[in-house]
Amino acid sequence: MTTPPSAPRRRRRWPIVLGVVLALLTAAFAVLFTRAPLPLGAPRGFDLNLVRTIARAGDAPLPTSVGRWVVARAHYPRALVGASWDFVTHITMTFPAFQIAWPDHYIVVDAPHERATHDDRFGGRDYDQAAYDGVAQALRGADQILFTHEHLDHVRGVSRSPHFAELAPRVRLTQQQLEHMPADAGFDADQLAGLSGTPLTEPTRVAPGVVLIPAPGHTPGSLYVYVALANGQEVLLVGDAVWSHHNLTRAVGRPLALALALGEDREATLAQARALITLRDSQPTLAIVPAHDDLTVKSYVRAGFLRSGFVRVPARP
Ligand SMILES: [Zn+2]
Repeated sequence: MTTPPSAPRRRRRWPIVLGVVLALLTAAFAVLFTRAPLPLGAPRGFDLNLVRTIARAGDAPLPTSVGRWVVARAHYPRALVGASWDFVTHITMTFPAFQIAWPDHYIVVDAPHERATHDDRFGGRDYDQAAYDGVAQALRGADQILFTHEHLDHVRGVSRSPHFAELAPRVRLTQQQLEHMPADAGFDADQLAGLSGTPLTEPTRVAPGVVLIPAPGHTPGSLYVYVALANGQEVLLVGDAVWSHHNLTRAVGRPLALALALGEDREATLAQARALITLRDSQPTLAIVPAHDDLTVKSYVRAGFLRSGFVRVPARP
């Protein structure tokens, strides 16, 4: 009895098929997770000198400090922050609020989520309830409350606040943020109906020394907050344009898989990262502060650009 001729051919073919499938899967994984080079051409940035002029117009006093109060931390593989094959080394990401302060008043930028959301969405470790409570109290005393963008880890401290009605008149949303507020940001329909949004299409001063700069990409409502301090230092809060200085040091964006999951404008975010590298390399008086960065922002605190925590401004009664 002889073996039918087709059987050995099938047996010889399957290693080839398996090899092709594995190669395709590896290539897809590499594209989705390990490569996110930044464009090399002229970066599409904003005009820093124009922003400086707008910020310093008039003779009203400039802010004296920018404080950072970290409410929570989470730890992710480097490859998920900046595309690479390094899934072993972990990077700490912070969830902070920022306070732009004058001697007798202040603005708060971003308001991280409450503990239950940290448990559900960010692994639940390293949550500082005292910091959350401190930020919640600081929000009640703020002149203005600004958001770098409309994601839950930046807004739920306001949307889920038991004092929302008290905060609402001082929440300054852009029209883009209001129109693209995701459901999990925590605002219900009544809350949103009571908020207004102003279009942000060019650098706009919101207080002496403080300029909002439109930076859509990570979300449609993303913006930078530029702060000119009275001592000549400058701070640029860039929200989630990049997640870390790791992205700037290595000139690499977020993995494509995450950009797709987040619904980002990929071209815009990669161009923004390149423009931020140019700024970082050319402007020694400017601290670039990604919201979730830990290590480099700590070095900015040591260098005096940022304060750790908020200054004690009495909350409104
Ligand atoms: Zn974020």
